[in-house]
Amino acid sequence: MSEKNEYSGYKSGYVAIAGKPNVGKSTLMNKLLHQKVAAVSIKPQTTRKRQLGILTSEKAQIIFVDTPGLHRPDYKLSKFINSEALAALHDADVILFLVDASQTPDEEDEILGREIGSVRTKKPVILALNKSELLSADEKGVRGEQYQGLVPGAIKIEISALKDKNLDGLITLITEQLPHGPQYFPKDQITDYYEREIAADLIRAACLYYLQDEIPHSIAIRIDEFLERDEDNAYIAATVFVERESHKGMVIGKGGEMLKKIGTLARLEIEAMSGRKIYLELRVKVEKNWRNNAALLKRFGYTAGGGI
Ligand code: GDP
Ligand code: MG
Repeated sequence: MSEKNEYSGYKSGYVAIAGKPNVGKSTLMNKLLHQKVAAVSIKPQTTRKRQLGILTSEKAQIIFVDTPGLHRPDYKLSKFINSEALAALHDADVILFLVDASQTPDEEDEILGREIGSVRTKKPVILALNKSELLSADEKGVRGEQYQGLVPGAIKIEISALKDKNLDGLITLITEQLPHGPQYFPKDQITDYYEREIAADLIRAACLYYLQDEIPHSIAIRIDEFLERDEDNAYIAATVFVERESHKGMVIGKGGEMLKKIGTLARLEIEAMSGRKIYLELRVKVEKNWRNNAALLKRFGYTAGGGI
């Protein structure tokens, strides 16, 4: 029996979204899935754990893996992020290389291009030029060639995740490249990422939004309580961990003003994601060197790579 007959023509598989921080991976995932499953931030590296986004249609089930960004291994956490990103590339059926077409390729794009090249034996690669709405027709041509040079043989497509441009075209292209296979997940399941983890990501994103460069990425969030009072109301208590006493002061702010702003933004985002009213309580605690402590990383939910 041929593969096509076995699954009646149905297609399914894993699509690793690879791209350096800030190219628009989370924005794309949110747009495709019509729901806030990935925290979008003006700061890079908000998405730190591997998560799935599942898009099911009559023809196919596309399982997106949003990989944490690739960056220099200065800390244990960074090394971990790199191994997670690479594992996702190896496991994928299709690699979606997302780039910021509004900028020329840099060293990070080149490194990623090389990594993709090294794993893509017989694996289709789609090069998606994101933020293309910012470019003139001439610029599009030039950028397209520059990025294509990093992944020769990749199928190229121009999109805008933000402006919803050519996203249907992207879905069609991905579906064409997927192998025949079964529907792995129920058709109404859109993520394997639980509400409480998304909430933690959104709180983190709110911290990064307001704190800008003052406390670069030394924040971890732990959800202490997640009580579903009823279908329309939930109570969340969370702790914001920082590495230094001085950072604690910055997160709390004068008279608690900063923490209040962070809490309000996070609450609105969580409400938008979950579609119910949220009561959010935030605490701040100093936990020295959490980034270099393997046991703490585990407690914050950063588990090692491997299968999906
Ligand atoms: P990630 O780090 O790759 O997940 O990137 P994000 O999805 O967090 O997006 C980073 C920034 O780029 C955000 O400010 C987005 O609004 C912006 N962005 C994403 N897609 C587009 C796009 O198509 N056009 C423009 N102009 N901006 C975009
Ligand atoms: Mg992201």
